[in-house]
Amino acid sequence: MSKESILEDVLLDDTKKRDIVVELLEKRGVKLVEIAEITYDLQKPYVKQLTKSMCLEHVERVVMKREVQNAILTGLELDRLTEEGHVSEPLQTMLKDDWGLYGIDEVLALAIVNVYGSIGFTNFGYVDKVKPKIMQTIDDLGKADDVCNTFLDDIVGAIAAAAASSIAHRYAG
Ligand code: MG
Repeated sequence: MSKESILEDVLLDDTKKRDIVVELLEKRGVKLVEIAEITYDLQKPYVKQLTKSMCLEHVERVVMKREVQNAILTGLELDRLTEEGHVSEPLQTMLKDDWGLYGIDEVLALAIVNVYGSIGFTNFGYVDKVKPKIMQTIDDLGKADDVCNTFLDDIVGAIAAAAASSIAHRYAG
């Protein structure tokens, strides 16, 4: 297969793109099961029969969505390019310092939450503020000089929130 046809194959295959984004997240120190733990805490009060493996199933469903995959690819690429110093100023400094007034990291993450409607928005706002579990670790690691996790924390929070919303649509009510 030529390089072009391999690329076209990946672009059109959500399962292959899923594998790529899961690997990217792992490279950045995040496993899907850790995202599922946040989802579990968000949704356990509302769904009595909820288990962590049910949460992982919904997280896996979220990362099969094309919009979600595209947001992950975009955000994690910008984090990496920033770490490597390849972004032009003033964006480089805004991303490197996780500048509070930048705000596009949250906006990109909303593309993930958007897939599952309004419960996702509420949950995303909550985890963005509280930074539970792996999100706190990501935030702390991002403070190191050679690390940029500006997009990663929002992406992880948004996947957790979207999975919580997916569970709510299925079981709650
Ligand atoms: Mg951020």
